[in-house]
Amino acid sequence: MGKASSSTATKISSFVLMIIFVTLALSLTVLIVALNAFFAEQEVFAGYLLLIGFLGVAFSTYLLFQTRRRILSLRIEVPQITTTIECRKCGFKSVREFQRGDYIFKEVEPCQKCNEKMLITAIYREVREKERVRFPF
Ligand SMILES: [Zn+2]
Repeated sequence: MGKASSSTATKISSFVLMIIFVTLALSLTVLIVALNAFFAEQEVFAGYLLLIGFLGVAFSTYLLFQTRRRILSLRIEVPQITTTIECRKCGFKSVREFQRGDYIFKEVEPCQKCNEKMLITAIYREVREKERVRFPF
């Protein structure tokens, strides 16, 4: 779920970024042409081109900020789930990212200190505030 939505975000953003950079490149070209026209004493023509060029730059900058904001908000939507693993013998604790198939009291990899089997003791979602869904052991 999380992976799918983040890859979609990357796809959207790379497509939009391409459009933004093409628009930006075109606008800069138009600005250079405008400058040439200005030096060729075609002020009215240069004025129009200048307007189009600036509008293009403004539009692509606006799009760039919008895309950034959208990517950031998509990233925040994906909750971070953490799994706490504890050794029942020596009390060694380790925290790692939640993996598919994790459940409370599941036996996982042996303890780094005493080689005893470790148990998953908590699975919770990392939320910025103190609002945690926690399973007491
Ligand atoms: Zn241990």
